Amino acid sequence: MSVTEVSGPPVEADLSDEERAIQATAHRYAREVMRPVGIVLDRMTPEQVIAPDSPYWAARRQYLELGLDLTDAARGLSPVEVARLTYLVHEELGWGDLGLGWGFYGASFPSALAQAMGRADLEQIFTPDRIGCWGITEPDHGSDLLDFERSLSPIEHGGKHSSCVAIRRGERIVIRGQKSAWVSNGSIAKDMSLFCRYDDGTGAPGFGAFLVPLDLPGVRRSPPVRKMGVRSMSDSEIFFDDVEIPASYMVCGPKEYPALLRGILVGANPGMAIFLVGVARAAFEHALAYAKIRVQGGKPIFEHQAIRLKLFDMYRKIQAARALARHVMVTHAGNPSPYFPLAASAKVTGSQFALEVVSTAFEIFGGYAKTEEYPIEKLLRDVRMGTVADGTNDVLSLMAAAQL
Ligand SMILES: Cc1cc2nc3c(=O)[nH]c(=O)nc-3n(C[C@H](O)[C@H](O)[C@H](O)COP(=O)(O)OP(=O)(O)OC[C@H]3O[C@@H](n4cnc5c(N)ncnc54)[C@H](O)[C@@H]3O)c2cc1C
Repeated sequence: MSVTEVSGPPVEADLSDEERAIQATAHRYAREVMRPVGIVLDRMTPEQVIAPDSPYWAARRQYLELGLDLTDAARGLSPVEVARLTYLVHEELGWGDLGLGWGFYGASFPSALAQAMGRADLEQIFTPDRIGCWGITEPDHGSDLLDFERSLSPIEHGGKHSSCVAIRRGERIVIRGQKSAWVSNGSIAKDMSLFCRYDDGTGAPGFGAFLVPLDLPGVRRSPPVRKMGVRSMSDSEIFFDDVEIPASYMVCGPKEYPALLRGILVGANPGMAIFLVGVARAAFEHALAYAKIRVQGGKPIFEHQAIRLKLFDMYRKIQAARALARHVMVTHAGNPSPYFPLAASAKVTGSQFALEVVSTAFEIFGGYAKTEEYPIEKLLRDVRMGTVADGTNDVLSLMAAAQL
């Protein structure tokens, strides 16, 4: 039994010609490149995924050549226009393959951070074509390190006992310790945006953000992690054995750190939601197509009311998650006072609804859902990551609640 694709991108009334064109490009790339490559990578070992002959590299090259990282497309646009392009493209990337989409997008983190901090000197070094990563969580400190206002725990929890510290020594900074095994792109990244404890020599507690080339002496990586979902994105633990960087690679000190981290989560939360809307949409389309060809009880299961109710439930959750994520992205575009609870609401809602939608698709496929013959088991493994990545939904909700 084969399931045919039923749709293109969502039908939109208010897109400009440019927006429509880039959405169509992203959809074509997602269908023709990400889907097939994502399946191949999903079935490889983590070592094969990042080997020189892996299809990962050609897929990434095409992503950059098509301008889907939006670096060029965004030039000269207003923040709202950039937000609109971003949500259109990222939904398609999520629809194509969540691991590839997240990994490609996250790769530009160091260059984007240099730009956001107004550091033109560092933008020359940490360029968008270099694969980057974000190292914040540590083996013993996950949620604690995302808690930017320390509303859930005292600073000591992620403070003096933290697994990674950057120590100021004159015009150099020495980095010692490690980041968690969940650093996305960790095994292939050339650069890291490192968020960790900062020791300025005075003994005052605090955190800082640093840009760190990962080819420096003293940087070590674990083998890529074997994991359940988003297997096309490669993660590794990264160890720093007294790695030295120039002090100028520090982009944020303790005073501004909470605001920086808050800003990153405010951007990342709806961003994550829109990728997951893409996954949910993919599962919905597969389930709808399957329901129309799978015959039980003498007719296609689509004719059974119980299945129709499930399909509509999936449909409305996708609409709600998409509308909320887009609203948050546009509301916060260029907004100097973003509201964290609004951002968290998009991520918590989007990841929860996406998980429910894919889970319902699993039900509709019945026993076939568990086989590699159909895409649902992979989508379920991928979407499962959404409620934990970039802060668990519980922790984000508690942090948001503290600000209400
Ligand atoms: C797909 C994926 C990609 C990721 N990418 C990156 C990355 O690029 N860089 C990076 O640094 N990290 C990354 N992470 C790590 C991610 O940010 C953490 O997994 C997440 O923040 C949770 O931290 P933890 O795993 O240490 O869990 P813990 O913090 O140990 O939490 C365990 C459980 O306890 C709960 N909990 C924790 N604290 C509290 C509290 N105060 N009150 C109530 N409940 C609490 C949590 O909700 C959770 O259920 C990624 C994770 C995933 C799954």
